[in-house]
Amino acid sequence: MDFEYGIIGGGPAGYTAGINLAKQGHSVILFEKNKLGGTCMNKGCIPTKSFLHSAEIFSNLKKAAEFGINIDFTNFDFSKVTDKKDKTVEKVRKALELTVKNSGVKTIYAEASIKDRNTILAENKEYKVQHIIAACGSKPKELKGLEFDGDFILSSDDVLNLKKLPKSILIVGSGAIGTEWARILSAFGTEVTITELAEHLIPTADIEVSKRIERIYKQKGIKFYLNDCVEKIENRSIKLKSGEEILPEMILVAAGRTPVCPIFDDSITILGDSCGKIQLAHFAIHQAKEYTLGIPFEERLTPSVIYGEPEIAWAGLREQDIDDSYTKIMFPITALGKSWCDDAAEGFIKLIIKNNLIFGAHIISKEASSILHTLLLAMQQQISIDKLKEICFAHPTYSEGIFDAICRA
Ligand SMILES: Cc1cc2nc3c(=O)[nH]c(=O)nc-3n(C[C@H](O)[C@H](O)[C@H](O)COP(=O)(O)OP(=O)(O)OC[C@H]3O[C@@H](n4cnc5c(N)ncnc54)[C@H](O)[C@@H]3O)c2cc1C
Repeated sequence: MDFEYGIIGGGPAGYTAGINLAKQGHSVILFEKNKLGGTCMNKGCIPTKSFLHSAEIFSNLKKAAEFGINIDFTNFDFSKVTDKKDKTVEKVRKALELTVKNSGVKTIYAEASIKDRNTILAENKEYKVQHIIAACGSKPKELKGLEFDGDFILSSDDVLNLKKLPKSILIVGSGAIGTEWARILSAFGTEVTITELAEHLIPTADIEVSKRIERIYKQKGIKFYLNDCVEKIENRSIKLKSGEEILPEMILVAAGRTPVCPIFDDSITILGDSCGKIQLAHFAIHQAKEYTLGIPFEERLTPSVIYGEPEIAWAGLREQDIDDSYTKIMFPITALGKSWCDDAAEGFIKLIIKNNLIFGAHIISKEASSILHTLLLAMQQQISIDKLKEICFAHPTYSEGIFDAICRA
């Protein structure tokens, strides 16, 4: 055998598995047909968060005078916003490339395929390995009648390469990707309309989170159509099932992702988005950690975060999952002094509780992801609400909202 492990795909699942296995002294070869870091680093998590940060700075600058800051403020330069995103991605990727190299993983930049359970083919060469790990990720899902053309109908990959922002856009789907792009584009002045097939926006979130986001969108002028979808496109004019007609400059289809999985047989380990389970980078990373380091994790407590203003974060049971034996607590972010200092008083911390334990946490707030992690610890380790109350939360913070919330239990 040439190597003990052969990994196809250098995204979060593949590189996490590779680095850990190599650190344990195994010989590892990793094949990547594009760039190390995968979707997350090159087309997903990192570039969108860079755009979101620029959008946030822009929004904050527009209200600077309200906070006593006088600036000669003109506008934004989208080509520079894009340059900054490219530089950020490159910086993060270079650091990863070095970590992978230093760990001892041999990386081959080529498309690979599985010939048999011990043979990987790449560039007309055969590599003999003891175990194969497929971590090939996923690709944007195409919808019938809304096939990507990179010009009018865009995927989440295409939208990253825009040179100029459209005046108006229709976003199909209000999951994490659709929501983050709605936030980026609307902050930069694009007129955003969303169509969502489900009854509420962000259908995987707690119902009250969805409803609050709908209220915020109404205030911000982001239009949305629920229980609706594109029925027909004629000369770039779009007719929705509801009969509504819209004429956006572009369409972004953000209706999920299709797993890319070279199915062979049970001898192949499949990790990350390829599995078609939870398509999140931290899920991919944790799956790879479980496989390589034996660190267990509870899939049901995989956190979800939607970035932008305000952040949305949740884990565990939702309102729509529970019966009368659970109680819920709602704590408004307006009650926190820090939120007023930051002009970010929109949102709530919602907890689903039973027998003095937390089973679900749903947060809309600045820093929601950080608040969630404390709650996640309590949920996973079954720390009771009484024990949680013993923590001295710093003031003024958003996290002290946890204390205020559990005092309502
Ligand atoms: C716009 C967007 C924003 C996102 N934001 C977030 C976020 O904020 N937080 C979060 O947790 N998740 C986010 N995600 C999801 C996240 O990117 C994925 O869940 C994560 O990248 C999955 O990791 P993976 O290793 O399974 O697959 P990938 O990251 O897709 O990596 C798979 C790799 O395999 C390579 N590959 C495929 N086939 C072959 C082959 N035959 N030979 C060689 N190489 C191959 C691909 O080139 C790719 O590099 C986002 C996704 C998108 C699209």
